[in-house]
Amino acid sequence: MIPLLEPTLDGNEARYLQECIDSGYVSSVGPFVERFEREFAKAVGAQHAVACASGTAALHVALRLAGAQPGTLVAVSDFTFIASANAISYTGADLLLVDSEPSTWNMNTEMLHDYVMSRARNGDQIPAIILVVHVLGHPAAVEPLLELKEKFDIKIVEDAAEALGAGWNSGRLADRQTGAIGDLGCFSFNGNKMITTGGGGMLVTRDAQMSARARHLTTQARTSSAGYWHDDIGYNYRLTNIAAALGLAQMERLSNILERKKEIAKRYNEYFRGAELVPMPKAAWADPSYWLYSLLVPEHYSCRKLGAEMAGYGISTRRLWPPLHKQLPYANCRRLDGIVAEGIYNRGVSLPSSAHLTKYDQLTIATKLKSVLLPTGGRITSERAQ
Ligand SMILES: *Cc1c(COP(=O)(O)O)cnc(C)c1O
Repeated sequence: MIPLLEPTLDGNEARYLQECIDSGYVSSVGPFVERFEREFAKAVGAQHAVACASGTAALHVALRLAGAQPGTLVAVSDFTFIASANAISYTGADLLLVDSEPSTWNMNTEMLHDYVMSRARNGDQIPAIILVVHVLGHPAAVEPLLELKEKFDIKIVEDAAEALGAGWNSGRLADRQTGAIGDLGCFSFNGNKMITTGGGGMLVTRDAQMSARARHLTTQARTSSAGYWHDDIGYNYRLTNIAAALGLAQMERLSNILERKKEIAKRYNEYFRGAELVPMPKAAWADPSYWLYSLLVPEHYSCRKLGAEMAGYGISTRRLWPPLHKQLPYANCRRLDGIVAEGIYNRGVSLPSSAHLTKYDQLTIATKLKSVLLPTGGRITSERAQ
């Protein structure tokens, strides 16, 4: 079976893990945590990085630092992995789900901008925080959000769980990276993300005070190392030295992973050229991470059937996320539209995208997909379209 996404672990991973075991530093104290944080901050262009037990934990702490609490309104992408929404819910805040734009599949930031402006004119509640997700590793169009931040002091938290290494190649944000644009940025190192620590996450910020508070909250808000005194309700959210050892080894190969993912996307795009498939978007101003290659299949084709047929050929595929407003816990949230997100869900399929995917496997995947979807070799016959 060709897996959807699996990590590549053949660099210094084993050596650094052995160092942890030899030194006895396997838990939350140890030199790898600090080294990993330092390398990570440098790589994404942030001043401070705080390693966390998961991407969800990083988001939870970031939202608390941004001021989320019961009664706060947080705007978030409707089309995202549910962890983005769950982290908001942990704080007791309310969600405002914002539909995607077709050109990036990310939050429609123009629509949110116009909505906030008209609410503000009427004196109605506006979001205090915007949690913007860089979906599938494509940077969101953040300029309208930065405008809102300037006007209303709205805090911007970036969910860059899938977007490590992605950024902007032109305009005002040229050479900046996802996660380092807003007030706080969050990353995930789950087994299927850009890099892995087995499980883990990172919170980055340019604000030294926020970083110190994040460190405090992730370690049970203990006020002194001498005794058990705590000044807040904190969490056990620190990353272990073992996990950080893996993370440091993975960072050494990040540029290679990014290069490989870009090649994989380029090759899929070439294989599918001329077929009636819509490849995942890439805006001219964006340098995506190409985390998980996805595309939209023709409307009349059942994505459910596709997964089973591809599995029959030994190829893992996966449908994209149903929009949050279709999920039981979030069905009653306020929302701005949701039609585009539904369309992406209805037609979206992800293909194997591991950094070490071979050219041969990729050609097999593309050939099988085309034969399953488009038996006529690219065109859809009118019979099939009915
Ligand atoms: C993976 C992911 C998360 C959560 O990260 P974990 O490390 O699994 O907790 C949050 N948001 C998005 C968009 C993700 O893809």
